[in-house]
Amino acid sequence: MNAVYCPFCRTEYQSTLTHCPNCRVRLVDVPPAAGARFQPVEEVAIARFSARLEAEMCGQVLEEAGIPVVLVPLGPGVAGFGTSLWVPHELRVRADDAQRARAILAEFRKEK
Ligand SMILES: [Zn+2]
Repeated sequence: MNAVYCPFCRTEYQSTLTHCPNCRVRLVDVPPAAGARFQPVEEVAIARFSARLEAEMCGQVLEEAGIPVVLVPLGPGVAGFGTSLWVPHELRVRADDAQRARAILAEFRKEK
């Protein structure tokens, strides 16, 4: 049985899981850097979007750059299943990645 890891909170899980139940990010099979597991993770919000699709698109750009992201729905509708598509979403990354993530996003949005 292989273990998988959350790139965001660095928790180890059984490989039957695909997403971290805490952070809702995709789990990876690469263990976090040795010694890093017990460091507290500080989340930083780097961008807000009016719709989920746009947030997902930008999240994908960051993930391709190796930066784990968390999409956090904001405001009303969050609790209702299936209604969260059109509520604002916030994109969060680890504090360590924030600067790089902001630069990548700025570049990405300029290109559009
Ligand atoms: Zn996690």
